Amino acid sequence: MSSLSRSLLPLRALRPLPRLSAKSYPKSWVNPGSKSALSAACKPAVSAKKFSANALKAEPSAEAIVHPRYLDEHVPGELDSIDTFIFDCDGVLWKGGNAINGSIEALTALRRAGKQLFFVTNNSAHSRAEMVQKFSRLGLDVEKTEIIGAAYAAAAWLKARNFCEKAYVIGERGIYDELEELGIEVATRIGDADSSEMTDAEFIELEVEEGVGAIVVGGDSAFNYRKLAYASLCLQQGCWFVATNPDAADRIGSRLKPGAGAMVAAVKEAAQCEPNVIAGKPSSWLLELLENEYGIKMSRTAVVGDRLDTDIRMGRLSGAAMTVLTLSGVRIVAHFPP
Ligand SMILES: [Mg+2]
Repeated sequence: MSSLSRSLLPLRALRPLPRLSAKSYPKSWVNPGSKSALSAACKPAVSAKKFSANALKAEPSAEAIVHPRYLDEHVPGELDSIDTFIFDCDGVLWKGGNAINGSIEALTALRRAGKQLFFVTNNSAHSRAEMVQKFSRLGLDVEKTEIIGAAYAAAAWLKARNFCEKAYVIGERGIYDELEELGIEVATRIGDADSSEMTDAEFIELEVEEGVGAIVVGGDSAFNYRKLAYASLCLQQGCWFVATNPDAADRIGSRLKPGAGAMVAAVKEAAQCEPNVIAGKPSSWLLELLENEYGIKMSRTAVVGDRLDTDIRMGRLSGAAMTVLTLSGVRIVAHFPP
């Protein structure tokens, strides 16, 4: 066994699933029904292709997956056809503040073997700059340009549409930082310091800040009714609805902690309005970023993750050469009995 294959032992791979047809891939996560009443000039029309909410929910079934095998069974042969690895982070490279055993060694070995690495995460709580620091603490030097987070993808979606209004944020610091880094003004924070309770009379008097043209919704550990009501009102007045990612929950030990998808669903239901875009995995916007901005050729790329509904689905939909489910995060070994 080569040293490379030995270092990859922590990564478990699945046999390839049948490729999904191009027809099943949501080409655009755009909801044509929402138009800003504030400044149409700032928002060139987005292509009116139908948003497919069902595609978010679908995931390869466990029954369709043959039993996991160790990646080293086919190393190095299979890896010769791979130039680039796209890694998810939470549950794959680390859990909380600690690296998963063997992950940093595997990354180092892949780099030594000349592979290009990218780190694509749906975690919108941290900016790319913060993640560079985290990688450094764990013992790996990573450039900001090697990291694509859902917060960055959301900001980049607005930037690509020459958005020049303010964005109201439900989410953590990573979203604020990425918006500001791309020159997008962040609207006044509503609901952070105020009481989260709201009477009917207060709601009637509530006004959307002048110049707000979009809301960006990600995971928010301080989510509350006032934020929900304000975001809903923004959408009712024509703002764009940008969701960072669809992950409903994240595994913390044996428990599932509510994720961005839960907050996106609350806003969606409150305003009866679909997101204009879901920026993170497995959206077509993210794939567009990977291919056009980062020049990644998916046919020579392996996608490594711990979730079927986002990581593996993105790999399958994009035509990636290989997908690897690590069974170290949301999906665990117990989900795939022998
Ligand atoms: Mg993960």
